Amino acid sequence: MVGAGLAGALLATLLAQRGWSVDVYEKRGDLRELGYERGRSINLALAERGRHALRQADADDAVMAKTVMMRGRMVHFADGHLDLQRYGRDDSEVIWSVHRGELNEVLLNIAEQAGARIHFHHRLDSVDFDARIARFGDDRNDTVREIHFETLVGADGAGSSLRQAMAGVCELDERSEFLGHSYKELEIPPGPDGGFQIEPHALHIWPRGRYMCIALPNDEGTFTVTLFLPNHAVPDDGSGNQRPHPAPGFDTITNGAQARAFFDRDFPDASKLIPALEHDFDHNPTGVLGTLYLDRWHLDHRAVLIGDAAHAMVPFHGQGMNCAFEDCVALAHHLLQTTDRNEAFAGFQAERLPNARAIQQMALENYLEMRDHVDDEDYLLQRELGNRLAERHPTRFLPRYSMVTFTHMPYAIALERGDIQRQLLVELTHDRTTLDGFDWDAADALVEARLPPLPENI
Ligand SMILES: Cc1cc2nc3c(=O)[nH]c(=O)nc-3n(C[C@H](O)[C@H](O)[C@H](O)COP(=O)(O)OP(=O)(O)OC[C@H]3O[C@@H](n4cnc5c(N)ncnc54)[C@H](O)[C@@H]3O)c2cc1C
Repeated sequence: MVGAGLAGALLATLLAQRGWSVDVYEKRGDLRELGYERGRSINLALAERGRHALRQADADDAVMAKTVMMRGRMVHFADGHLDLQRYGRDDSEVIWSVHRGELNEVLLNIAEQAGARIHFHHRLDSVDFDARIARFGDDRNDTVREIHFETLVGADGAGSSLRQAMAGVCELDERSEFLGHSYKELEIPPGPDGGFQIEPHALHIWPRGRYMCIALPNDEGTFTVTLFLPNHAVPDDGSGNQRPHPAPGFDTITNGAQARAFFDRDFPDASKLIPALEHDFDHNPTGVLGTLYLDRWHLDHRAVLIGDAAHAMVPFHGQGMNCAFEDCVALAHHLLQTTDRNEAFAGFQAERLPNARAIQQMALENYLEMRDHVDDEDYLLQRELGNRLAERHPTRFLPRYSMVTFTHMPYAIALERGDIQRQLLVELTHDRTTLDGFDWDAADALVEARLPPLPENI
């Protein structure tokens, strides 16, 4: 396997626990000795799909010990008031914030305990698929090691070297669509008593139309704040009714001092809590965001891609890792069904590719919801009606966020049912500002006509 990140470490565990001999080659050094090297986001939201996969590897308890529960979105409105929008019905329907480095550390330990061998400082550089030789470079001394392989699994992330090597010998139909928005991470430190400075059990959002900030808690009392902004500012068109509103961009906010002035204006409550904002803004990298589409994830029986290497997505549904973990369980399952690896990889791709496409689309749609809709009155009314219909029809109507976050229902089905539900909510709230005098009988009839019962065991 190439890559001992989140998916690589979990798949190594699942395969080693099922009797496979697994070698994992990771370009970085061992983060358990060197500490976490900043790269992708600092912390992540773990949801039921990811936990379900962790349970298959007996890794859930160890991971959960490092998490902070998030019950809902704490929306910080522009006028300063706060509103906690719960994600689910109760504390059985929540998501969990976990530090990427701590999570990776736990998974590396578990993979090694299961018998996987992890080779650090091995960066895949090139592959000869005919001779079955993979060449790995070591950054420390510029040496190259050749490894004979039977099958390569690419868990080497969005910039996958294995994908690049496969594209040299077969057509993957690769397309990347960049979002045109990027992100920057900042930090809210613990308060003077060492505790959290804002509500810890929530994912905080400051929605501002075309841009937003979010903050996720870390178990040591800090919050990682992520600012999402367009790459290029959107000027005011002078109409006075532009929606979403004009926005600054990473081309107009280029240094820490400008970032502080912007935060003081648009996120004043957050600004007060980020003492090192100027430093963080100047020194932390600006991350780009995009979606990677491939029509093919495997090269016959010789190589297969999983996780971000196959289907990187924008982070607005908090599902990239959760989806990658589901891939691991699916691939391990297909590999156990047949000794023909081509057949196993084809089966894996047939099962997972449509679902990856579905969550990629929902993740893009969720950016609009988070930055522009959570403080919008039509959205809030539809949300209220959705919750009421879910109470009245628990076997048919489940908010899309819940289907994605609290169930194992294939993403493609969640997308399809979610579209039907959204259409219903739009129709039923048309020309309304409240649910007073609402015709529940007509709504019930529509739900029953359009939404078949939810599948069992979701
Ligand atoms: C800002 C942001 C926020 C996010 N938030 C969430 C969230 O809340 N919830 C969620 O589920 N997902 C989230 N994601 C998505 C999540 O980070 C990814 O989906 C997840 O990391 C994918 O795991 P992976 O193992 O496929 O890739 P990675 O985690 O990227 O791991 C790839 C590994 O391969 C190694 N590697 C790379 N190239 C080579 C090479 N040539 N040779 C050897 N090793 C190599 C890397 O060093 C790394 O260890 C977020 C992403 C971003 C950018």
